[in-house]
Amino acid sequence: MRILAIESTAHTIGVSVVSSSARSAKAVSLRNTEVLSNERAKYPSTDRGYIPRQLADHHAKKYAGVLEAALRKSKTAPEELDCIAYTQGPGIGHCLRVGFVAANSLSKTLEVPLVPVNHAIAHVEVGNWACGTKDPLVIYVSGGNTQIAAKTEVREKRKYAVLGETLDIGIGNFLDVLGREFKCAPPDAVGLLEEAAKGGNLFDLPYTVKGVDLAFAGLLTAVTRAVGGKKTSRRDACFSSVQNAFAMLVEASERVLCHTRNGELLLVGGVAQSKTLQEMYSLMAREQGAKSFVVPAQYAGDQAGMIGITAVKQVLAGMEYGNYEPNQDLRIDAQEIPW
Ligand code: MG
Repeated sequence: MRILAIESTAHTIGVSVVSSSARSAKAVSLRNTEVLSNERAKYPSTDRGYIPRQLADHHAKKYAGVLEAALRKSKTAPEELDCIAYTQGPGIGHCLRVGFVAANSLSKTLEVPLVPVNHAIAHVEVGNWACGTKDPLVIYVSGGNTQIAAKTEVREKRKYAVLGETLDIGIGNFLDVLGREFKCAPPDAVGLLEEAAKGGNLFDLPYTVKGVDLAFAGLLTAVTRAVGGKKTSRRDACFSSVQNAFAMLVEASERVLCHTRNGELLLVGGVAQSKTLQEMYSLMAREQGAKSFVVPAQYAGDQAGMIGITAVKQVLAGMEYGNYEPNQDLRIDAQEIPW
């Protein structure tokens, strides 16, 4: 089976071609399923943040070139495609609409089925595919999402249940806002994490873990004020806010792990690329007798390869869909996982 997948939830428009010879959704692995191409165009970060309308215009403009590159690199003719997958949600409404319209018109032209994919589940499934994990406790950390999730079965229905999560903003957004505030280069989470990696002195900041949930707004206000009032240096502020935010996340995850006792821990999403976070998780996992895995860098941020991998599983599982419309509020626990 050969699937073309489109990702368009936030700053990135991506197109990927995935091929698979797997016989069942459960059997999908690196051995039988390959990402043949994974092309993307990212809207550049600026110190103004993202404006939904501008993101959507960027995606609409770049789509044709990205599509062409994905087909060319995978040496795929459109007639060879068995279905078209796209991100249904969660994401920014304007952006989701661009991906949906593109996928829908390809599906109609080629007369092949449409496969709607949940973006959050795709982040997890690409991790399972790349790391070979079977039933991990998932730490999903990106711009808009901070969730601790695991597969659970209630009345014979399998789902990823959210066991802990942020009560306000996503950890990536938290880092992005600070990166802009402190004029890091680049002005986003990447710049802030680079600055924090240079070290600094830890100073006292709010630490908000409520059971297995987290909140970042208090920490954001406190650290911004401390720098504004010249009570600390930018380097100390970057270092301390990252240490605090990550420690909160690891503590909440450890609490969940003590209940679920998963043997595997899987870090996915754009923020999973942080070496500091990876190190903190591997130490915690070792203490709890679990094995820690991190999604490879090329599959951590938003890209269409993860949509294609998840679509392969959905097709093999024979999933059916009542609704194809984009849904910006779709959650990871909104969908049954038949595999
Ligand atoms: Mg994402």
